[in-house]
Amino acid sequence: MLKLDHLEEAVAKAAFLKEFCFGVRIIRLEDGAELYSSIPLSGEDFSHRRVSIEGNTTSQFSGSQSERSYFFGKNHEAYEITSVPVLIGDQRCSLEMIQPHSRVISTITGQSGDMLDTERYLSGTIGNLVLKDTLTGLFNRRYIDEYLPAALGAAYDQGQPLSVIFADIDQFKQVNDKHGHLAGDLVLQHVAQLLQKKIRRTDSWVARYGGDEFVICLPGVDHASAQRIANRLRLAIMSERFPLENGAINLTCSFGVQSVEKNDFQLSALMLLHRADERLYQAKHAGRNTVM
Ligand code: GH3
Ligand code: MG
Repeated sequence: MLKLDHLEEAVAKAAFLKEFCFGVRIIRLEDGAELYSSIPLSGEDFSHRRVSIEGNTTSQFSGSQSERSYFFGKNHEAYEITSVPVLIGDQRCSLEMIQPHSRVISTITGQSGDMLDTERYLSGTIGNLVLKDTLTGLFNRRYIDEYLPAALGAAYDQGQPLSVIFADIDQFKQVNDKHGHLAGDLVLQHVAQLLQKKIRRTDSWVARYGGDEFVICLPGVDHASAQRIANRLRLAIMSERFPLENGAINLTCSFGVQSVEKNDFQLSALMLLHRADERLYQAKHAGRNTVM
């Protein structure tokens, strides 16, 4: 059985899979609670009638444990559901992939009947490829898009604060111009490692937004603490020597911090990032090597 530590991990996998199916849901088996759904499968569009299919079709998808059933829409069109058992923390859940019956739930390669790719994805290999930045090994933009809304949703639910730090290396173009693009790549890798090393909380993560920009997500961290963390990162980068072929160089980095706190949860993930980016812009405007 696929085992995951957190719901967020399952949601990220489900959110990725949804690109290859009509919809994806995560259901807690104990009480049938819907923990995630990429599409509303209740309401008047669906009849809720569910028919389980027995026999050898069940073993076709994901080894012997997957199960197939059908939903029916209001015009009696059938939706085929393939359920894969998932253990999230200690909760037994089911990851459901939903397709109009006329299409095969083969997904990723588009080759009908190729279940291996879905298996590989579910066991993490493809997930890692899709969600990691190849240069730095940090999470990538897609990960931000999938996980930040999930982290924000969890913060809403738990009444906890959440902070986002947007970081951008100062005058990074000059590194490329003076030392070459390869040296620039090395510096990006070095900065990524440094940020990752300094952010050790298990529920926090660092991602490369793109270029020389990084996003750090800090669940449970209020604005004052996030600013202290950003300042520690600023000092760490400022005091680091970045070794290159012709000697080491120094760098600085600017930071924008935006938080949502209790009773203040009206921001979407997109707005949260946008506000953090605006603060980053202010930091650049204030002379760089600054936290705003
Ligand atoms: P600022 O202080 O205003 O941020 O100045 P900057 O020079 O850092 O400007 P900006 O952030 O706009 O430029 C980022 C540069 O990063 C532009 C691009 O040449 C470079 N870059 C983006 N992606 C990569 C990459 O993968 N490798 C390398 N070596 N350079 C990259
Ligand atoms: Mg920059």
